[in-house]
Amino acid sequence: MTGTPFTATTLGSARIGPNRQLKRAVEAYWAGRTDQAQLHALAADLRVAGLRELHAAGLDSIPVNTFSFYDQMLDTAVLLGALPPRVAGIADDLDRYFAAARGTGRVAPLEMTKWFDTNYHYLVPEISSSTTFSLHPDKVLDELTEALALGVPARPVVIGPITFLLLSKGVDGTAPIDRLDELLPLYRELLSTLRETGADWVQIDEPALVTDLHDDPAGLVTRVYGELARATDRPAILVASYFGDLREALPALAATDIEGIAVDLVRGTADPVASVPALTSKLLVAGIVNGRNIWRNDLSASLATLATLLGSAASVAVSTSCSTLHVPYSLDRESGLDDTLRSWLAFGAEKVAEVVTLATALRDGRDSVDQALDACARALAARRSDPRVHDDGIRERIAAAVDAGVARGPAAQRRAAQDERLGLPVVPTTTIGSYPQTSEIRRARAALRANEIGVDEYERRMRGEVASIIALQEDLGLDVLVHGEPERNDMVQYFAEQLDGFFATENGWVQSYGTRCVRPPILYGDVRRRHPMTVTWIDYAQSLTDRPVKGMLTGPVTILAWSFVRDDQPLWDSANQIASAIRDETVDLEAAGVGIIQVDEPALRELLPLRAEDQPAYLRWAVDAFRLSTAGVADATQIHTHLCYSEFGAVISAIADLDADVTSIEAARSHMEVLDDLNSIGYANSVGPGVYDIHSPRVPEVGEIVASLRAALDAVPAQRLWINPDCGLKTRSTDEVEASLRNLVTAAHIVRAEL
Ligand code: GLN
Ligand code: ZN
Repeated sequence: MTGTPFTATTLGSARIGPNRQLKRAVEAYWAGRTDQAQLHALAADLRVAGLRELHAAGLDSIPVNTFSFYDQMLDTAVLLGALPPRVAGIADDLDRYFAAARGTGRVAPLEMTKWFDTNYHYLVPEISSSTTFSLHPDKVLDELTEALALGVPARPVVIGPITFLLLSKGVDGTAPIDRLDELLPLYRELLSTLRETGADWVQIDEPALVTDLHDDPAGLVTRVYGELARATDRPAILVASYFGDLREALPALAATDIEGIAVDLVRGTADPVASVPALTSKLLVAGIVNGRNIWRNDLSASLATLATLLGSAASVAVSTSCSTLHVPYSLDRESGLDDTLRSWLAFGAEKVAEVVTLATALRDGRDSVDQALDACARALAARRSDPRVHDDGIRERIAAAVDAGVARGPAAQRRAAQDERLGLPVVPTTTIGSYPQTSEIRRARAALRANEIGVDEYERRMRGEVASIIALQEDLGLDVLVHGEPERNDMVQYFAEQLDGFFATENGWVQSYGTRCVRPPILYGDVRRRHPMTVTWIDYAQSLTDRPVKGMLTGPVTILAWSFVRDDQPLWDSANQIASAIRDETVDLEAAGVGIIQVDEPALRELLPLRAEDQPAYLRWAVDAFRLSTAGVADATQIHTHLCYSEFGAVISAIADLDADVTSIEAARSHMEVLDDLNSIGYANSVGPGVYDIHSPRVPEVGEIVASLRAALDAVPAQRLWINPDCGLKTRSTDEVEASLRNLVTAAHIVRAEL
């Protein structure tokens, strides 16, 4: 065993490529336009370029095996021989891998879910009684060899057995964590192979230790790392935690004979770390540079924190708090940023530079980096005093809106007023908002971006789209229409671009899952709505039809969840500011005659804190922000909300607290069971359980929809039931949408006749 302590590192880095090259290459391979050799060559180029950059920046230990063709949990399932049996028949390794990730015509993919409380999604391994684990270390060994050949001080990274099992799904009654003992010999074998191949250190990621996923994390740690540390033919072991505090798992880890522990000092705190006695023999990897947000580090404050830790461990290395997978590559790629704003930010490359600066200061003293410290202090001072960041006028308005209350009239009174105003049939039909984003729409948007057409021409084309979407819905016979959202690139960015306080990046892409990348806007200052954001579109749509057109807005929690948020005020403060802007929009829509307004909150569950004890406070402010954004309208204006999922978990009671008049949710895949969940918490407003799954290209038959509706009517009286698909239609083709909705309307008529 070796393991010379290092001083500067990162826990992982982005892999999609600074120009999203990997996305394009993988998609080209899927489309059959390129072969595996080309794909592998591009992947190697990207990895090598990334390694060289981290090395040149001055890191003295560099993570490898953080590359992935799709997802690191899927890679771990391959490493441990735990792919589901249904893909076993696919002979080619890479094709089998992609089949597990995205399915084929014959086999279903693994489920996908959020990686802790980030916007990255991982594939959920399935562990059943027939799973027999076996070690397949080719990928990690190849990437280690590749890095060592470049002369890079490479530290292979693998997901640890505790996290792997706690995040896996048990099939046929298996509790994955019960299989822990079967994995330990595989990890021992892996460690010895890595040592043989030349690794000095290995990083074993155990982020599950910062959650409530298991009731005895300390016990698990003692079992696993007590055992793995006993081996002698192994690299030094760094157990990495991130996204929160280790709590009782920290002393347990420190008591084992592993060599290093990485802690998240951004989400977690330094105090408990400083007081763990057994750390004195270990390398402490201090995650002080935020790997998840885009703000420049306060180097001075970081040095002060690091100073409190110096005596508590044998040595201290500086690191990002987690992989920089969650932030864009580099500020160099943003040309539209003004210099002031730019000076407040740090993307992936800038974060690595911050790590190196801090490590240099620890080694050579503060004076050795005084220029960097000065530049940092100036930027932070500018940020604190910038009028865009703090606007007292906005704050006063919001305080007044909060004081005015976030409650609407009693639900029954609202229902009566709305029934009278809207005169809708029983079990009304509607859709969730978006219609297919056709290639004409995408082309127009690209042409606008490339300045080939002007805003007027773009808007003219989008009005054409709205007109045909309205005509389609009238023809189908839907009761409540939508304008179809053709003008929206994205349901968050569209609003962020129209709000002061937000900045939309040009190239700030981050991986969301597989080849899908998102470009979260940056919330940096107090939020002000410059002008109405949606009114002309809804107004135009309404002018084309006598049926009611629903106004479409994104809710404050979802806008926050899908943005990089401020770190200089509590999240709820930002939530209230956004809510206040959305509230202004609802009031303007109402004044324009719009009778139904939907405020989508598909991300309500996403921001839920990882520890149960922190969840009630979050739900309180999240619910209040939604209510603030919707409570400015009269009783006769109907508020809808949409949530994208049916497993509410800890957010279930919040659904009733939102107090929307109508809540549409996913239900098709869970056979309407979600309605029982809503009943169990006393939800008494209307509900639109999705009657078919829009994630699949399959057109639902009338009979199936009728059956779903009858099941829904067993749980909910007709007066409270709406009929809709389970999400927006933007990813479907127009043909699929037309056929599916035709069947939906037919089913509605059949069921109405039975009432
Ligand atoms: N109104 C949005 C749409 O239909 C809602 C999308 C979502 O829930 N993610 O596309
Ligand atoms: Zn949805």
